[in-house]
Amino acid sequence: LTKSQELLNRRKEVVANGVGVFNTTTVQDAKGAIIIDADGRELIDFAGGIGVVNAGHCPEPVVAAIREQAGKYLHTSFNVVTYEPYIELCEELIKILPHGEKTKAMLVSTGAEAVENAIKIARQATKRPAVICYTGAYHGRTMMAMTLTSKVSYKYDCGPFAPEVYRLPFPNFYRYGGTRDEATFVKDELKRLHESALNLVDIKNVAAIILEPIQGEGGFNPVPQKYLEGLRAFCDEHGILLIMDEVQSGFCRTGHWASWQHYGVEPDISTYAKSMGSGLPIAAVVGRAGIMDMAASGSIGGTYIGSPVCCASALATIQYMKDIDLNEQAKIIGHTIMTRLNNLMKNTPQIGDVRGIGAMIAIEFVKNSDPGQPDAEICSKIVKGCSENGLIMLSAGTHKNIIRILSPLVITPQQLDKGMSILEKEIKNAIN
Ligand code: PMP
Repeated sequence: LTKSQELLNRRKEVVANGVGVFNTTTVQDAKGAIIIDADGRELIDFAGGIGVVNAGHCPEPVVAAIREQAGKYLHTSFNVVTYEPYIELCEELIKILPHGEKTKAMLVSTGAEAVENAIKIARQATKRPAVICYTGAYHGRTMMAMTLTSKVSYKYDCGPFAPEVYRLPFPNFYRYGGTRDEATFVKDELKRLHESALNLVDIKNVAAIILEPIQGEGGFNPVPQKYLEGLRAFCDEHGILLIMDEVQSGFCRTGHWASWQHYGVEPDISTYAKSMGSGLPIAAVVGRAGIMDMAASGSIGGTYIGSPVCCASALATIQYMKDIDLNEQAKIIGHTIMTRLNNLMKNTPQIGDVRGIGAMIAIEFVKNSDPGQPDAEICSKIVKGCSENGLIMLSAGTHKNIIRILSPLVITPQQLDKGMSILEKEIKNAIN
């Protein structure tokens, strides 16, 4: 047995089966875009720990900042003893992610927790109970976040779910556009949104509408520009708060700190995690100060909120992202990936769509060039083939028929070229 196989066997013995295995790779060391597995095999990482290492594995200034903070103090609980890294991180977040005239933030540890708190704040601020979310959405695995999540296989037998959650179809133009042009499709979807005030829920009871501007687990589905503008107007008309979940799309992935900055449509509240901390558990809720302050004292928080070591990691990550202009880097990498995939698509009818913003790019596989016939089988062959040939890949989508690229944005041109070549070869192998 290889060391990797041994490790996986030990895992099987003691770890609950419900903790999914998306890929059978192991690790003993990771730097930049490279993972060295337990047997010393080198792999290029196109999964980035599910979008967590946009700044690369173990960026040196980040590791140094973690070490330095760990030598000072590890924990006091921010509720009990105030420390500067928490405040400094909030100061930084409201600068790069301004919401209206005055912005405030709160820190937690995970994306799901950020979503839970965003909903709690929205309910307290509006004194309304209901929340509207979307099909294809993923918001996490805690109770409210799981309820807001769409894909049923994430939540088999986990109910009863949180009440007062209503769901609209996500305006996924590729899948549901049919023969319509995008403008007509968006017009139809906005009509559906307005009709929801009559047939889905009493709109006076709706605290918030939550969406990912570019869905992550759902398969990198971007919301159409005009739909997002229409949604913003609809929320304003009815006094509903617009929450944007940027947990996967944030921190340089799309070439911006948040993908809503790409659209130029501002949320009332937004959530961040993943690449903000380069791997340490840190997450944030950012929002208009008047809204954020409506949550009653003590109603949001927790023992470990904004751990000082995680704050130090996030502060160093943001500084590093600025120093090397990682947003620009995402655009450059994204352009290379998009060009190669579009070329491949020309001669590959099994590729139904290549899409994305910045370096958040996905490939959707379908049968008979029909968006309504997703092909999960090809997708799982490609992920397996890549893994055997030195490339870690992740699939996505309700039908598991989408390959998503979440490589570190510090990947070198040579590594990117090698990784793309493996991916292209494995796509060809899976098809033939
Ligand atoms: N929201 C989005 C958009 C996500 O992609 C994820 C994680 N995939 C979450 C929330 C949940 O984050 P976490 O796993 O840190 O709880």
